[in-house]
Amino acid sequence: MAEETLFSKIIRREIPADIVYQDELVTAFRDIAPKAPTHILIVPNILIPTANDAVAGHEAALGRMITVAAKIAKEEGIAEDGYRLIINCNQHGGQEVYHIHLHLVGGRPLGPMIAH
Ligand code: 5GP
Repeated sequence: MAEETLFSKIIRREIPADIVYQDELVTAFRDIAPKAPTHILIVPNILIPTANDAVAGHEAALGRMITVAAKIAKEEGIAEDGYRLIINCNQHGGQEVYHIHLHLVGGRPLGPMIAH
């Protein structure tokens, strides 16, 4: 059993977060340290620690993360200009919280995809 992170507590509303969307599969909330004018994390309600742990049974939640990102991007007014969706995995990916999450980042030009 993977260990829960603070994201599980946010999903259960046990600790505060600026939740912008929640349904039976996913929860979306504003990143506490935004890297751009819009920076929202979209997470499955069940604990999937990393992209390495994704299996077929998770496809509904993982797919919902993308469709919810598109909906929120429209609501945030960044859909037309564009944005970036990022999932970091493990150490080389820079993952800090081991509950898989999709970063929705936008609101300004984001520059090169990967910093050197
Ligand atoms: P990672 O590096 O794992 O892909 O991204 C983790 C993200 O979670 C970071 O952007 C970080 O700012 C955000 N984060 C960490 N702790 C909290 C928290 O307690 N609340 C919120 N809303 N975001 C958090």
